[in-house]
This record gives sequence, C-alpha cells and structure tokens, in this order.
Amino acid sequence: MRLEFDVAIVGAGPVGSVLAALLVTRRVCAPGRIALIDPQLARDGDGADWDLRVFAINRASQRLLAASGVWARLPRSRINPYERLCVWDATGSAAGAGSLTFDCAEIGEPDLGSIVDGRSLKWHALQAARALGVVVVEADVRAVSIEETAARIRLGDGRDLSAGLVAVADGSESPTRQRLGIGTAGHSYASDALIAHVTTSVAHQDSAWQRFLPTGPLAFLPLSDGRSSIVWSLVRDEADRLCGLDPTSFGEALEVASAGVLGKTRLDTGLGRYPLRLRTAEQFVRERVALVGDAAHAVHPLAGQGLNLGLLDCGALVAVLEAAADPRTFGDRRVLRRYERWRKSEVLPAAAGFDAFDRLFSNADPVLAALRSTGLGLVARAPFAKRWFAAQALGTAGDLPPFIAARDDITGDRSSPRR
Ligand SMILES: Cc1cc2nc3c(=O)[nH]c(=O)nc-3n(C[C@H](O)[C@H](O)[C@H](O)COP(=O)(O)OP(=O)(O)OC[C@H]3O[C@@H](n4cnc5c(N)ncnc54)[C@H](O)[C@@H]3O)c2cc1C
Repeated sequence: MRLEFDVAIVGAGPVGSVLAALLVTRRVCAPGRIALIDPQLARDGDGADWDLRVFAINRASQRLLAASGVWARLPRSRINPYERLCVWDATGSAAGAGSLTFDCAEIGEPDLGSIVDGRSLKWHALQAARALGVVVVEADVRAVSIEETAARIRLGDGRDLSAGLVAVADGSESPTRQRLGIGTAGHSYASDALIAHVTTSVAHQDSAWQRFLPTGPLAFLPLSDGRSSIVWSLVRDEADRLCGLDPTSFGEALEVASAGVLGKTRLDTGLGRYPLRLRTAEQFVRERVALVGDAAHAVHPLAGQGLNLGLLDCGALVAVLEAAADPRTFGDRRVLRRYERWRKSEVLPAAAGFDAFDRLFSNADPVLAALRSTGLGLVARAPFAKRWFAAQALGTAGDLPPFIAARDDITGDRSSPRR
C-alpha cells in the first residue's frame, strides 16, 4: 500500500467517516487518495435494539448525510422523524402559558428532524466511506509532524503515512489536537447527562419534549418503536443519587421530573453517563491541519446540536477544498483559513448561546424563572420569532455549503422516511 494521500482523516467517528465519504461523492479527491484512520473501527452494524446513543439530526445534516451517500444506507427502522418539539420551564406546564411548541405543519415542513441510531450512523458512515474506495486504516495515530510539502503521521504499528492535509476528527479529547499544541477555551459543567430508553404510558406522538429544571434539562426523544430516549442533564450529586436507584424508583423519579407529561415511565435499558463540557479549539486550522467535529468544539447537549455542527464542518471543509480544486493546495493555510472563518462564525455564537441558555434555565432564581416563562410565552405568540427559532432548529438558518443549501438535492430522498 502506498501511504501517500491528499487527505488523511484521524478518527472514524460519524464526523470523520462522513467527511471521507463526502470528499469522494463531491469529487474533491479520488477515492484512493483519502485515508481514514482509527484504532477502534466500528465492528457491528445495526443492533437488534436501538443503540443507547441516539442523535437528533436536523434538516441540514440530513441533506449532508444524503449528499455523502450515508442517509440512503441507514435502515428505516433506526430513523424516526419527529413532528413537534415542546419545551417548557419547570415553573410552568407543557400545555400552559410559558411553554413553547414548534410544529412542522406550522412551517410547511414534513418534520423537524429525525432521531437517528448512533451505532447505525457510525457503522453505515464507515461502510459508505469503504464502499467509495476510501483507504481505511485500523491504527492509532501516535504523532503528527508538519513538513513543508506534507504532514507526516506516525501510526501505532510503526508505519508512516503522508498527506497534504490532516483532518482531525478524533473527538472532544482529541489526542491529535493536544499533540499539535492547539489550546482550547471553555469549562466543564458541574453536570453529567444520563441517557436511557424508557417506555411511557402516554404515547410520545412523534414529539420531542424538554422540561427545564433548576438541576438541568430533561429531554424525551421519540423512537420508532414507541419508546422514548431520555437525555437528563443533572448536577453530579443528583446524577450519583439517580444512578444508585433501582429501575422502578428511577422510573418514578423520571415521572416526577417530567411532570408526568408522558404518564408513567419504565426504564427499559441500563443508564449511560456523560460528563458535560463546553470546549472550543483556539484554532480550527494550522498549516496542513483542519479540526472538525468534537475535536474542534464540544457543546452542551441541551439543543442536540453537537453532531449537527460537526457535520456542517464537513460540508464547509469540502466546499472550501472544492473551490481550491488542486489537491496540492489543500493544506495551504490561506485555503484553510476560509474554513476556519466560516465555521468559527457559526460555531462560536452557537456554543455561547447554548451555554447562556443553560445558565438562564438551570437556575432556581425566582426572577430568572419569571423571565424564562415570560420569554417562552412571548416567543410562542410571535410568529416571526417562532419561525426564526424553527429555522435554527432545522439548521437551515446559517451559512450552508451550496450543495446542501437547496431543498431539492436530498438525492432522491426529499421527504423524510415514514414508517
Ligand atoms: C448526552 C449527549 C447527547 C447528545 N445528543 C446529540 C444530539 O441529539 N444531536 C447532536 O447533533 N449531537 C448530540 N451530541 C453530541 C455528539 O455526541 C457529538 O457531537 C458527536 O458524537 C461527535 O462526533 P465526532 O465524530 O466528532 O467524535 P467521536 O464520536 O468522539 O469520534 C471520535 C473518533 O476518533 C477516534 N480516535 C480517538 N483517538 C484516536 C487516535 N489517536 N487516532 C485515531 N482515531 C482516534 C475514536 O475511536 C472515535 O471513533 C450529544 C452528546 C452527548 C454527550
């Protein structure tokens, strides 16, 4: 195997694999000119049950997954479009004043996005890259050095590989970002997110529900089999306490925390637990290096936007390289700076916004509580503001890569899959 590439992608998570596939489908690189490196490649495809990790994928990401050939590969049983999103503050109620509901029908959309199975997405993105001829390398990246004409990558098995551009997609801890000495800004939240699938006595109605509690937001995401997937952000002591409960007591606590919006809840799976942090890389690019996905930015999951932002990084980077045209220039800082300016202008305000939202809502201060309820009520009554928020949630409001900006290019999959 010749170990010289136009682009080497470090990390075959959803972002790295989608980037690899998109570089080929957009004809930015010839298939054999892309390497995708990961020491822990996805091994299994779709499980018998929904994965514990699910993602709320917005319209912009759906178009991008379609353009990369990944969307068409996902089994329809592991995608569930959702039609409504209802958010409310703990001081109010889901149906009363101070709640805010977005309905796809109000904005002329078939849905607001889809809940997608994490294991299926990671597997099918990798399979799409493989099928398109990307060179997949199962190895750890031990060192990256930047030389005049190429970047050199030392693999854990001793092999060396060279590439004109290294795309760093190795997650929020990003060993490669650290090795390159790229600093980060941000902070750890005093909270963890608990995730699980639950059965509820009231149907989810293909709606996502989110209640903001002083201890952190609790979200229910609708799955295709009638269950909901919860993402419950909690201060750490409270997360410890809940993790120690038996399943029945956990279900009861969940019912109280959700104000019974979906009736009685039963825990159907084990719990997953994730520490929460806000972390943005100080630089998204260096000569011959571009950071994408969580390696560039990790955000609070309250808006379910982390992966959506990462997928748009892929779209922006591919659009910039497409315009540069000559693979020999892909690593030029002048070319990459366009990607950095573009994505920083979208990601940094979004990350700061989610952080401000968390401070405003995860708070027991009565003045702030009144402000929140009034604010949600005002938005609910202002069609223009509602449309603005809906466009943000759909991911169609920002500066999109041209090939996903138009509605018509969902490559034969213009509407979302229905069961
Ligand atoms: C509780 C929770 C809920 C969330 N819900 C949503 C949601 O609903 N919607 C949404 O858009 N986002 C959501 N997110 C965010 C989302 O999980 C991340 O943004 C996304 O997983 C990032 O993908 P990635 O490919 O950048 O990184 P990762 O998924 O972390 O993948 C990194 C890859 O790099 C590899 N790697 C690591 N080290 C090396 C190395 N040395 N060499 C080579 N490869 C390496 C790893 O093996 C891995 O495969 C949520 C996050 C949390 C915590």
